[in-house]
Amino acid sequence: MRMKAHRATLIKLPKDKCDVDYINRLMALTNLAYRGYEIWAPDISKTIQHQLYGSFKNFKDSLAFGTKPKRWFAETWVPLKTFRVYADGSRKGDRNAPVVLDFRSNVIRLRQVCRNEPRYVVEVSMPKWVIDRLSEGGDVKFAMTGLKDNEPYLALTAEREVEPYQPSGYILAVDVNSWKYGIAWGLIRSGKLVTWRAEGPNTLLINTLYHQAVDRERMIGKLRRIGYGDSMKASRVRGQAKSRRSRIYRITRDKAYFLAGKLVRKALKYKALLVIDNMTEESRKELLEEKLPSDVVKLLMSNLKRFVHQLETLAQWYGVPYRFRRLYSTVCPVCGSKLVQEDDRVMVCGNCGFKAPRDMVPMYWALKLQLSTEDG
Ligand SMILES: [Zn+2]
Repeated sequence: MRMKAHRATLIKLPKDKCDVDYINRLMALTNLAYRGYEIWAPDISKTIQHQLYGSFKNFKDSLAFGTKPKRWFAETWVPLKTFRVYADGSRKGDRNAPVVLDFRSNVIRLRQVCRNEPRYVVEVSMPKWVIDRLSEGGDVKFAMTGLKDNEPYLALTAEREVEPYQPSGYILAVDVNSWKYGIAWGLIRSGKLVTWRAEGPNTLLINTLYHQAVDRERMIGKLRRIGYGDSMKASRVRGQAKSRRSRIYRITRDKAYFLAGKLVRKALKYKALLVIDNMTEESRKELLEEKLPSDVVKLLMSNLKRFVHQLETLAQWYGVPYRFRRLYSTVCPVCGSKLVQEDDRVMVCGNCGFKAPRDMVPMYWALKLQLSTEDG
């Protein structure tokens, strides 16, 4: 069965060529349109406003709004139609669309999107991301514009029709147990674990950076209390604390995207059925048990969610069949008793004697799953 898959990307627009107030107004109008109000601003181009009211009904039920909101769509972004001009000269979409993707000259033209002036055009170079999606058979039908931290952006959504392959008999089990120990994955074939690994972000480095940031934040507090809150020193220390916090964020985010890409490539290679355990509540508990600071736990958890979301998005896009299943790490896969954790994260069953490293227990559950799907 063919399915529609989507992927999205964000492009930063040149701020000096954009009127932030204008984009803000468009966002406010979009917000109203989303709530069912149709307000025609006399000074804004009809073509742009048609995006809101003329095509809005189509957009509203599409990916752009509602069904799968991306985190940057939290504020109401302005939906825009696209017109595509391909390298061979063929065209698709509405020729009056405010966003033109020109693959002959590899530019994206924004017509009256960035400033409320007739025939005002901003050109940005075509991101490699778009070329890559196109080469995979995708098409960029949707675009949106909006502000994120007061910076103007263009969001592009690629769409592709894809038919998931028939699994070859391999299962790729992914256990999202805790971001501290990373995720665990195992490749299973004919009731055997072929390969198995646990990987994740470097939590030692994250912990170090976190404590360095906290030390500096304390120092800023001290300086403020003695009246040096606006001094050169305070601002330098503030910069250091901020850069450490954003490094922690980048490390965990990049790892999430890297691992999702790697696992989907592995599933494709073996034509495996992807089985994902998405039990984030258990992960959070385990992170709290580790006495990690609560804001670090929050960050790790949000990146864990990001990992699962990216894994699902890529699986859909590349036609990898997948399903979500509980793969327990504290329940015995042989007899169902509760497992007890010993030193070095080894889990032991007091009832039947089963024993395995904690991160491997879910793989036994995946093995059971394969046997039961073969039976049925
Ligand atoms: Zn047991």
